Amino acid sequence: MSTSEKARKNNTAVIGAGFAGISAAAYLAQGGFKVDVFEKNMQVGGRARQLETDNGYTFDMGPSWYWMPDVFDKFFSDFGCKASDFYELELLDPGFSIVYGMDDVLDVPADFDALCKLFESIETGSSERLKVFLDEAAFKYKVGIEKLVYKPGLSVMEFLDADLIKGVFKLQVFTSFSKHVRKFFTHPKLIALMEFPVLFLGAMPEDTPALYSLMNYAGLKLGTWYPKGGFGKVIEGMKRVAELQGATFHIGQSVTSIRKSDSSGIELGMNGINKIFDGVIASADYHHVEKQLLAEGDNNYSENYWDKRVLAPSCLIFYIGVNRKVNRLRHHTLFFDEDLNQHAIEIYKDPKWPAKPLFYVCCPSKTDDTVAPEGHENIFLLVPLAPDLEDTEALREKHFKLIMDRLEKYTGDDIVKHIDYKKSYCVADFKQDYNSYKGNAYGLANTLMQTANLKPSIQNKKIPNLYYAGQLTVPGPGVPPSIISGNVAAKQLINHLKA
Ligand SMILES: Cc1cc2nc3c(=O)[nH]c(=O)nc-3n(C[C@H](O)[C@H](O)[C@H](O)COP(=O)(O)OP(=O)(O)OC[C@H]3O[C@@H](n4cnc5c(N)ncnc54)[C@H](O)[C@@H]3O)c2cc1C
Repeated sequence: MSTSEKARKNNTAVIGAGFAGISAAAYLAQGGFKVDVFEKNMQVGGRARQLETDNGYTFDMGPSWYWMPDVFDKFFSDFGCKASDFYELELLDPGFSIVYGMDDVLDVPADFDALCKLFESIETGSSERLKVFLDEAAFKYKVGIEKLVYKPGLSVMEFLDADLIKGVFKLQVFTSFSKHVRKFFTHPKLIALMEFPVLFLGAMPEDTPALYSLMNYAGLKLGTWYPKGGFGKVIEGMKRVAELQGATFHIGQSVTSIRKSDSSGIELGMNGINKIFDGVIASADYHHVEKQLLAEGDNNYSENYWDKRVLAPSCLIFYIGVNRKVNRLRHHTLFFDEDLNQHAIEIYKDPKWPAKPLFYVCCPSKTDDTVAPEGHENIFLLVPLAPDLEDTEALREKHFKLIMDRLEKYTGDDIVKHIDYKKSYCVADFKQDYNSYKGNAYGLANTLMQTANLKPSIQNKKIPNLYYAGQLTVPGPGVPPSIISGNVAAKQLINHLKA
C-alpha cells in the first residue's frame, strides 16, 4: 500500500454527538484515526443535553438515573483515566421512592440489608426470595456485560461461547419478565417495584424477556448514583476524553446526505458542502439515517420493517423551576398512585394520551445545590407516552394540570404559584431536535424479537465502511448501552479500515 493510500484510510466521521457518538469518536481516535464529529444541535449530548436558564437553573434534559457505573468506569479506564477525574458521584440513599398513594410511600434504600427488611415488612418470606432473584439477576448481568453486550450482533457464531451455552437457560431469554417476577413476589407493591425499570424504558413486562431482570440487579444492588452537576458533566468528561484522543467536534452541523463516493469512500453532504471520509459511524436516529440521509437502495430496511418495530415510549416532560423548597420530594420519586396496567396499555397496546398517568419526578436540587438558585427547586416531570401521539400545547397543559394536582396534594405545597421557570418537551420536540423516529425517547423496546442480533444491524449491508451506533441498534436503549454501542461500532470500523 502506498503512503497516500495509507493516509487516505485514516479519515473518519461520526454523525451525532450523543453518548454513542462521543464514545465512538473517542475509540476511533484512540485507534489512530482522524475523527470529525458532526452534530446538528448547538450543543453536544443529544438526548442528554442540558438546559441552562437565565435565572440560574441547570436541567438535565434527558437521563437522570446513573445506573451500571461499571460501564462508565470502563469507558474512562480504556483511556487511562477515571470518572472521578471529570465528575463526582454520589450514591443516592434512598435510591428512589415510589408513591403508591398519598400516604403510602416506599423509600428504596441503598443498603441491601435494609432493602431485605423492607421487602419482608411488605410480604413475609420475600427477602429470601429477593436474594435468589438478585443472585440470578447478577449472573445475567455478569454474562450480559462480559459475553453479550460488547458483541456486534452480526452473526450467531458470536454466541458460540462455552459459558453462554452452559448458561443459556439461566439467562431466561424465552421466559417473560412478568411471569418471572410473579414467581417470586405476589404483593402488587413489590411487583410494581420490580417491573418499573422495564416498563419505563422498554415494553410491557409480559413482552420483555426475563433476561432483563439484570436491570433490577443494576438498580437494587449496584446502586443509583448521581453525577454532581448532572449528566451534562458526564457528557463533558467523555467529550474531553475524545478530544484528548484527537477527535474534533463540529456543532450546529447537520449531515444532510450519505453517499458512496468513488474509490470506496463515503461522501457526507452538509448543506451544500461535501466531504469524503474512509469510514463513517452514524449515531443519529437509525431511521433518519436510513430514510433521510441514505439514497434509496443503500438502506438496510424498508419502511414496512420500521412500521413493525416496537418502539420504546416517547414522553411528555416539564422542566420547572420553583422559587421555594418543596416538601416530601426525593431525588427520584415515582408516582404509581394510579393503575399501572392501564397506563401501560395506553403506551403499548392502545396508544393514546393516558387518562390517569403515572409519572416520574426528578428533583436533583435535593442533592445538588449547583442546579438551582439557593432556596429553589429544580424539578423534572416525566410522563411516559406512546410514540407518535398527536402533540399539542393544549394536550401538554391538560396533562400538566393532571399531574400537578397530584404533586401538590402529595407535597402539600402550592408549587404552581411558585414556578419561576417552565418549559415543556414532547413528541414534536424529539422529532425536531433529534430527528427521532415517531418522536421516540428511548429507541427500540427490549422485546424478545428485538434483542441482540434481531436489532437493526450495526453495519450497513450495502456500504461496508458505514456503521450505526446508538440506542436503536445493539445493545439497546439507555446511556450505558449507548456508550457500549459507540465502542462496538468503532471497533468494527477500525477492523474494517485496517483490514
Ligand atoms: C427523557 C429521557 C430520559 C432518559 N432517562 C434515562 C436515564 O435516566 N438513564 C439512562 O441510562 N438512559 C435514559 N434515557 C435514555 C438515554 O438518554 C438514551 O438512550 C441515550 O442518551 C441515547 O444516546 P444516543 O447517542 O444513542 O442518541 P442521541 O442522544 O439522540 O444522540 C444522537 C445525536 O445525533 C444528532 N443528530 C440527529 N440527526 C443528525 C444529523 N442529520 N446530523 C448531525 N447530527 C444529527 C442528534 O442531535 C443527537 O445529538 C433517557 C432518555 C430520555 C429522552
